[in-house]
Amino acid sequence: MLPEEARLLRFVESNARTVASLYGYREIITPVVETYELLSAKAGEEVKSRMFVFKDLGGRDVALRPEFTASVARLVASTLRAQPKPFRLFCAGTIYRYDEPQRGRYREFWQSNYELMGSSRPEADAEVLLLTDRLMKNSGLKNYAMKIGHVGVLRGIFNQEKFDEKAQNSAMQLMDKKQYEEALNLISESGFPDDGLKTLRELISLRGNNVFDITNCMMKCVSAYEQATKAVENLNDILKMVAESGAKINMTVDAGFARGLEYYTGMICEIFVPEFDIALGGGGRYDRLIELFGGEPTPAVGIAHGMDRMMLALQNQSPPVRIVPESKAGVVIPIQRHLAAKAAQIAETLREENMRVELEIMGRKMTKVLEEADKKKLNFAVLVGEKELESRSVVVRNLLTREQKTARLDEIAETIRQRDEHEAS
Ligand code: AMP
Repeated sequence: MLPEEARLLRFVESNARTVASLYGYREIITPVVETYELLSAKAGEEVKSRMFVFKDLGGRDVALRPEFTASVARLVASTLRAQPKPFRLFCAGTIYRYDEPQRGRYREFWQSNYELMGSSRPEADAEVLLLTDRLMKNSGLKNYAMKIGHVGVLRGIFNQEKFDEKAQNSAMQLMDKKQYEEALNLISESGFPDDGLKTLRELISLRGNNVFDITNCMMKCVSAYEQATKAVENLNDILKMVAESGAKINMTVDAGFARGLEYYTGMICEIFVPEFDIALGGGGRYDRLIELFGGEPTPAVGIAHGMDRMMLALQNQSPPVRIVPESKAGVVIPIQRHLAAKAAQIAETLREENMRVELEIMGRKMTKVLEEADKKKLNFAVLVGEKELESRSVVVRNLLTREQKTARLDEIAETIRQRDEHEAS
C-alpha cells in the first residue's frame, strides 16, 4: 500500500481499536504463523482448502492464519481459562487465504476482529451487531446494511430429520453460495421426507427488512420443529434487543442465509454497502468452539470486519471520506549548508511541540523545496538564514497563504500556531 492507502487503512484500524475500547474489548496480539494442526482444527473445509501451509525448517507443518478465531479460542481454552467471564477480546492484523485475487478479494488482507465469550444471551449477540454499526458509522461509511440469519433454524430441521452432519455442512456451504437448488437436491437425495423439504423450500424463500414480519413467518414455517422454533425465538430476541437499544440499523433477515465456516451455532450476520456485492464483515455465534479446543464449554459470539474492503468502500462512496487532518506539518530549510545543524536543532524544538517536521537534507534550492512542500500539502516552512539568525530569528512561511513573517527563535511554534488560529477563524 502506498502512503495514501496506508494512511486510510491505518485510519480504519485505529477506528476499530477505538470502538474496541469503547465497548471494553481488550486487544490481544496473536502470531501470523501457527501450527497447521491448530489453525485447521475447526476451520471447515472451505477455509482449510485455502490455507497457506508449509513445512518450517524443523520439518513441522505450519500455516499462515486464515482467521483469528482459532487462535483466540485456543487462548481462552488455555491461558485465560481461569479468568472471570465474560471476555471481550479484540485483534487486528493480516489474514491469509488462497482466494482468487480480484477487487476486494486478496490473498493477504486485514481484519479487525471482536470476540465476546462467556454469554449465551441475546444481549451478547446484539452487542456484536451494535458495535459493528458503530464501527461502520464512525469510519464514515454510509448506507450499509446488515444481513442476519440463524444457523440453528436450518440445523434444527436437519437434526430432527436425522440428516447426517457432514451432509449438513455440504448443504450449508451450497446455501452460502446461494446455490439453493443444488442444496435442496443434495438434501432430497439423502431420503429427507417431503414435508421437511417443503418446509426448507418455504423457509429459504423468507427474507426482508421488515425483520419482525419475517421472524413471524419463520416461526409459523418451522412450528413442527422444536429446536428450529427455539432458534427463531432466539433470533427474534436478538433483533428486539437491537431495536429497543435505539440503534437505527438497516437490517435484513434472511432465513436461507448460511456461512462457510462450520463452527457457527446461532445468529450469523454480514454487512454490505450498495457499492459492492462482497461483504465488509461477517460473524456469528459459535458456542462449541472453545470446548473443541479443550476448554470449558463457553458460549461465544464474534465478528470480523475486512478492513481492506472498508477502505475500498470509503474510497468509492461519495463524497469520499475525509480523514480528520493530522496536526500541522512543515519543513525546515537551512538556506546555507553550514546552517544545517541549526536547522536540525530548530526542527527538534518543533517536534518537541508535537509538530510534524521534515528537515531539508538534500541541500536543494529553496524554491524547489517549497514546490515539493506544496505538493505534499505541508502547512508551513521555516527558513533558516544567516541574516535572520544574527537577530536570533527565522522566517516562517504559511504555505497556504504564502505569507511570511519573521519569528524569534523561541517563538516559532507559537507563530505557527497563531496562524492555525487565524486560519480557523
Ligand atoms: P470471514 O472470516 O470469512 O467471516 O470474513 C470476514 C470478513 O473478512 C469478510 O466479510 C470480508 O470483509 C473479509 N474478507 C474475507 N476474505 C477476504 C479476502 N480474500 N480479501 C479481503 N477481505 C476478505
